[in-house]
Amino acid sequence: MSTHNKIPVAVLGATGAVGQRFVQLLVGHPWFEITALAASERSAGKRYADAVNWVIPGDPPASLGEMIVQPLEPGLDARVVFSAVPSDVAQEVEPAFARAGYAVCSNASTFRNVDLIPLLIPEVNADHVGIIARQRVERGWPGFIVTSPNCTITGVVMALKPLDVAFGVRKVFMASMQSVSGAGYPGVASLDILGNVVPFIKGEEEKFAQELRKMLGRVEAGIHTGANVILSAHANRVPVFEGHTVSLSVGFETAPMIEEAIAVLRDYRGPAIVRQLPSAPPRPLVVRMEPDRPQPRRDIDAEGGMAVSVGRVRPCPLLDLRMTTVTHNTLRGAASGAVLNAELLVAAGYVE
Ligand code: NAP
Repeated sequence: MSTHNKIPVAVLGATGAVGQRFVQLLVGHPWFEITALAASERSAGKRYADAVNWVIPGDPPASLGEMIVQPLEPGLDARVVFSAVPSDVAQEVEPAFARAGYAVCSNASTFRNVDLIPLLIPEVNADHVGIIARQRVERGWPGFIVTSPNCTITGVVMALKPLDVAFGVRKVFMASMQSVSGAGYPGVASLDILGNVVPFIKGEEEKFAQELRKMLGRVEAGIHTGANVILSAHANRVPVFEGHTVSLSVGFETAPMIEEAIAVLRDYRGPAIVRQLPSAPPRPLVVRMEPDRPQPRRDIDAEGGMAVSVGRVRPCPLLDLRMTTVTHNTLRGAASGAVLNAELLVAAGYVE
């Protein structure tokens, strides 16, 4: 695609923590160009430079500082909207944009478990875009909604997918160590998290189970069938700034040798349509063989923050295999994952 005919895109919730990541990623994107920014009534009508309280590394892009923030209503000059609004706001706003003909790529949890709405990780279930046609017919929308998964389960599903294809994943036990940036800004109070571990994140364990079954499931003739996998999860918030770590035990239909499992993880590349997308990492999974890796401080930036690092692959005396994953939660687990979804929609012909 030439730089002269980039696809116009808008960011909904552009002043928030995830919205800022979208803005940062989309400036200079080879296919997309930001033509509108929108946020709450508190920000609408202000220059972006005045409305935003920039909380991510770097500075707000100078090229967008003068852009006037608009209200969260259709009428924006864009064909794709990236949504980073709170889930209660998404409930109203995202269908309004789909009804008005926009392609909505959402980061909110609101519609993740609606059968008609794809929950996408392109390397895992690119074929689930096939349900968009039925979504449009049944909702009567000229546009549509696709969603990105929870930032913690993203890394788990990416690591499980090739193992599921090869050996059939049936049981998963997982304990997460989730960074504070996953709670947005201002997030968890410093007095609650410094020098501490909080063994509860509201709603998180339920999301893991639903989203895992949905993404490892099948879409055939517009019908979604969830995967037959049992998950037992423990979600913990830990005093790490960025990067979600998960310790996993996995039970299979056909238990692999450890060397076979490592080879399957290492060889994983995702479908051909995804490999040529601008944000797709050359290796979706980076397998570490050191005994003390992966670690969030050392591994979140693997393949530009788009790869999941997997290590400590070893036998499990309870299930079949144990391993550890580390994922960049605000890139692969949030904004970059949604940008990759939008690139897939372009490559698959859903956005022109
Ligand atoms: P945030 O920092 O609180 O930003 C929220 C954005 O939505 C801001 O632009 C804000 O505009 C706007 N907004 C807030 N209340 C609104 C209202 N009542 N009406 C209209 N607009 C409103 O949140 P965030 O951390 O970026 O998260 C955004 C979404 O992404 C959430 O659904 C979250 O669950 C999801 N998510 C977050 C992460 C993460 O790592 N943080 C990961 C995955 C998914 P103003 O600035 O004008 O108030």
